[in-house]
Amino acid sequence: MKFGCIADDFTGATDLAGLLRRSGASVKLHFGLPDHPSDGLSDIEIIALKCRTEPVAQAVSDCSEAALWLRAGGAELLYWKYCSTFDSTDQGNIGPVAEALMAITGQTQALYCPAFPENGRAVFMGHLFVGDQLLNESSMKDHPLTPMRDANLARVLSPQVSQSVGVWNRVSQRASGNLPPETHLIADAVEFSDLEFLIEHTPKHVLLTGGSALAMPLPSKLGIAFQNASQDPKPGPRAIVFSGSCSQMTQRQVAHYVTSHPSYQITPEALDADVIAACIDWLESLDRTETPLIYATASPESVKASQASLGVSEAGALVEHAMASIAQAAYQQGIRRFVVAGGETSGAVTQALGITEVMIGQEICPGVPWVYGGSHNDVIALALKSGNFGTPTFFSDALALLGSE
Ligand code: ADP
Repeated sequence: MKFGCIADDFTGATDLAGLLRRSGASVKLHFGLPDHPSDGLSDIEIIALKCRTEPVAQAVSDCSEAALWLRAGGAELLYWKYCSTFDSTDQGNIGPVAEALMAITGQTQALYCPAFPENGRAVFMGHLFVGDQLLNESSMKDHPLTPMRDANLARVLSPQVSQSVGVWNRVSQRASGNLPPETHLIADAVEFSDLEFLIEHTPKHVLLTGGSALAMPLPSKLGIAFQNASQDPKPGPRAIVFSGSCSQMTQRQVAHYVTSHPSYQITPEALDADVIAACIDWLESLDRTETPLIYATASPESVKASQASLGVSEAGALVEHAMASIAQAAYQQGIRRFVVAGGETSGAVTQALGITEVMIGQEICPGVPWVYGGSHNDVIALALKSGNFGTPTFFSDALALLGSE
């Protein structure tokens, strides 16, 4: 049995792909809607969209198209993947997309569980915790695009959907194993065994949605886990790091990396063609053995100031456009290994490099594998890391895994 996943951003999709690859199943990841028919699908096919903050109608239409592509290729089960911090706005897009997928599959309930115990994300009594903090007290309250100001997920989801919302809490899960009657169910999970319980006890008429961890028990449940000893391909040696994430962990990663590598900071206020060209010239001037960092990563105060003067989406778009142009120039200069921090930023860089499909390779840290795109003769390696993933040495760790440090 094959299964298909739709992810709302590129790093979330690679996170999911890396975790599912641990099962030994073959995992193919598409960046954006594939432009070829869905014949000969791998065991697990993941379509990464960039729809987290799209207008609702656009997100619904993109995800529906992805679902139809997967189903046409024989994916019997669909999984809707979003961030383990439930990143969304009052309008969506987690709820509206779930309702659209239910209409396609004919499922009558949807289960939501963003818990990712290995990375400290837990849902208890319908409330999402990041480590020992409630979601709204974590650094997610300052996210540039989707600030999360409420940890009660039923309350977050309710305005996004047209049907009833309930909580399937851990106590009632274990008491009866039966789902509550509401259409949309926030499900508790604190440990990995809770996720296994959910996968085991969720009937077929329920659409599964969640972070990447909830999908992990699926390959063995569906009988598609096996040992696949394929070797990772070998990309050219030159490498670069891009960081457009302003998340707390990324700030630490940037602070750590700049101390021992050539680094170039860009700011949204001054990002015209001349500034981009100057950065590209700087890149060209470096010794070829160096692995430079280009970053827009800044403190919450500085992000707020940029957003106040430019607007939230304009500030983000300027940075993403610059990162995309510089990534293209880096490729022209012969760089083939790209470490990228930031979900949106990764989307921009991957698109700029024209990469539409990748195979999944070694995991760098939980949730972030190296992935390989490009052509057989000209492989491009990418490490796409969303905001708070990894430890402070993530950039060097990723590069070291490929022998680039
Ligand atoms: P994360 O994975 O941490 O959420 P993303 O790349 O998804 O990171 O989102 C960060 C957003 O913030 C991007 O749209 C990026 O362009 C934008 N951004 C980056 N640096 C700045 C800055 N200095 N000021 C304002 N916005 C910024």
